[in-house]
Amino acid sequence: MSDCIFCKIVSNEIPSKKVFEDDLILGFYDINPEAPVHVIIIPKEHVESMVWVTEEHRNLLGHIHISIKSIAKQLGLNEDGYRIVNNCGKLGGQTVDHLHYHLLGGRQLQWPPG
Ligand code: 5GP
Ligand code: ZN
Repeated sequence: MSDCIFCKIVSNEIPSKKVFEDDLILGFYDINPEAPVHVIIIPKEHVESMVWVTEEHRNLLGHIHISIKSIAKQLGLNEDGYRIVNNCGKLGGQTVDHLHYHLLGGRQLQWPPG
């Protein structure tokens, strides 16, 4: 998608501080971190949100979750724990319309969310 910020990050049109990359996905630090560790993990393929996920994405989503586990370990989050978040659509608080997961750690996170 030509006007999608995260597609531009995938193509390096917009620079990012990457923590993980392979053929299918990319992980990079959030530009406006909400926690000491705040990484965004995205599929390289443009999928707008969870609403648009289909059965064809089953392996991709499994790959994302397993990779987030590795990234969390790599960033030293295993001992104290962390949170994985997907905001979906307007009421979910999604602001970038390219499917993504937040990996948050390094401080005590509160529940329930606001
Ligand atoms: P959402 O609110 O859609 O769940 O999350 C979008 C996230 O993308 C926000 O946390 C925001 O700070 C981050 N973000 C938006 N634009 C950029 C950017 O250009 N670079 C990086 N690294 N993060 C971005
Ligand atoms: Zn996109």
